[in-house]
Amino acid sequence: MPAYRAPLDDIRFVLHDVLGTEQLRALPGYEEVTPDLVDTVLDGMAQVCEEVLFPLNQVGDQVGSTVADGVVTTPPGFKEAYATFCEAGFPGLSCDPAYGGQGLPLTLRAVLDEMVCSTNLSFGMFPGLTYGAYEALHAYGSDELKDAYLAKLVSGEWAGTMCLTEPHAGTDLGIITTKAVPAGDGAYHVTGSKIFITAGEHDLTPNIVHLVLAKLPDAPPGTKGISLLLVPKYLPTEDGRPGTRNGVTCVGVEHKMGIKASPTCQLQFDNAKGWLVGEPHKGLRAMFIMMNGARLNVGMQGLGLSVTSYQNALQYAKDRLQMRALKGAARPDQPADPIIVHPDVRRGLMTMKSFNEGARALAYHVGMEMDVILHHPDPARRQEAEDLVALLTPVVKAFFTDVGFESANIGLQTYGGHGYIREYGMEQYVRDSRIAQIYEGTNGVQAMDLVGRKLPAEMGRLLRRFFQPTHELIERESQGDLKDLAEALGQGFRRLQQGTQLILAKGMRDPNEAGAAASEYLRIFGLVAVGAMWLRMARVAQDKLAAGAGPKEAFYRSKVVTAKFWMTRILPQAHGLMASIAAGGETIMALEPDAF
Ligand SMILES: Cc1cc2nc3c(=O)[nH]c(=O)nc-3n(C[C@H](O)[C@H](O)[C@H](O)COP(=O)(O)OP(=O)(O)OC[C@H]3O[C@@H](n4cnc5c(N)ncnc54)[C@H](O)[C@@H]3O)c2cc1C
Repeated sequence: MPAYRAPLDDIRFVLHDVLGTEQLRALPGYEEVTPDLVDTVLDGMAQVCEEVLFPLNQVGDQVGSTVADGVVTTPPGFKEAYATFCEAGFPGLSCDPAYGGQGLPLTLRAVLDEMVCSTNLSFGMFPGLTYGAYEALHAYGSDELKDAYLAKLVSGEWAGTMCLTEPHAGTDLGIITTKAVPAGDGAYHVTGSKIFITAGEHDLTPNIVHLVLAKLPDAPPGTKGISLLLVPKYLPTEDGRPGTRNGVTCVGVEHKMGIKASPTCQLQFDNAKGWLVGEPHKGLRAMFIMMNGARLNVGMQGLGLSVTSYQNALQYAKDRLQMRALKGAARPDQPADPIIVHPDVRRGLMTMKSFNEGARALAYHVGMEMDVILHHPDPARRQEAEDLVALLTPVVKAFFTDVGFESANIGLQTYGGHGYIREYGMEQYVRDSRIAQIYEGTNGVQAMDLVGRKLPAEMGRLLRRFFQPTHELIERESQGDLKDLAEALGQGFRRLQQGTQLILAKGMRDPNEAGAAASEYLRIFGLVAVGAMWLRMARVAQDKLAAGAGPKEAFYRSKVVTAKFWMTRILPQAHGLMASIAAGGETIMALEPDAF
């Protein structure tokens, strides 16, 4: 049986020591967010995730969500777990207090996302999608819609969905055919087929609020003609209870590789009553509010599963006895040494550990910048944060989920043949983590977003929000006790700068060149961005050691060693990736489809 313990020491190190919770407290609206409050919230999250969600992870995978006659049943225990999750106030953790939310920082939501994804990704999909619906409605809904639905979504009493995909339209939302026809009373009749809708139907809540992309009769073609509509499963009564059944039915649930407890539904809308969210034809703008938050959440899925896989791989590596250490027996009293003595096993564990801790720091940093966007009094500082979050969103989504999947695979490999056997739980993390590379825009599409939109945006202003502080960080550390790490980061950073110049220059002449370089470029970006966080963490750890860390000496020493591992063993991948980019797209584009 796998196990999970919330890595609270690591989480607190990032929040309190590296990023500084006092930065949060300085933001208007967060005056109450003391370090003690943060710690109390973290303890509460850890308890629910460890004791309620994690024990349901394997049964959720084995039983899955099932459908009969349009009714979806979640696995045993999910309903009770959902009730506990809602009682703890987690759906509304960072939501607007005007609608019953706790108004806590988004940084803490990032922590919650990590722990939920670590313990039960399938379960996390239900509140995850609900939060997305909340965000779009909060930003763009009319007052009537907000009053009718927001409090229910914030409390978790009703759940939400995001209905974009159609059988012929996934990445290319401009070609959707779902129609929304005015009903004459301000509402619309929505008709069409949506597929792959997460939590499109289930038994956790008495009502489900679908946010649906559709086209109005006078819609211009393409993405400029998409509208967003709110379509509830049950039309609410005057007093806010689920009333008449609306024209939306679940006609099937997919059989999937992973996240089996999360029902992935085919939904049929037949003249379902719906209301516009935002302006006609401007639905994509509202949907992007959901999608950007959801992309960061999906990034946390890669990280979360990697964390659990690592914890179990580490324990197994300490327990499993096979062969002797290369330099002689480490445990002569035993028939063989624990496999953690072997350099190759350690290489895998260090790869996972350095990714987990570095990616966590980057994710929480992005979370804190999102709090700045919401609460900072200075518009210039808010703009700065908005630029950085926009730039890093595709990086977090794609880099975290690519490396998260690789990491879950390393965890499985650490178990040898036992990793391939279901009861040990490691293969579930590999299967569950695979989807995160696909949904919310595939990772290839994230790379195109980074290269095609974010790089040239505002004459490179978004890019400068990352490049400038990274350059300053490297300069700052280039003389002192971390100069080797700064030098290594500097080399990776130079590759990122070279890649940027090459893409901008060649991509202007031939867009296929930018497309051919995009995925490798995004990976370099992720390597450097996590590297920058490692340099910051190493600085804090080094200062703590210099001041006398006492019982925490091993903890801080481990941070410095792991930072060095990332800089010297992982970040150099940037050199090979840059060589691929420099080779250009000619060989990629040369063959006619028939010649493949
Ligand atoms: C388990 C699961 C849950 C999901 N949940 C939801 C949900 O809740 N709501 C929802 O609306 N959808 C959901 N989806 C759908 C998901 O978002 C889409 O599957 C995804 O966006 C990709 O679309 P597609 O499957 O049609 O692939 P396609 O768009 O057909 O893409 C196929 C391949 O072509 C590549 N490609 C396409 N266009 C380009 C391009 N311009 N440049 C480079 N490469 C390109 C893609 O990267 C991909 O590798 C879910 C899917 C799954 C499997």
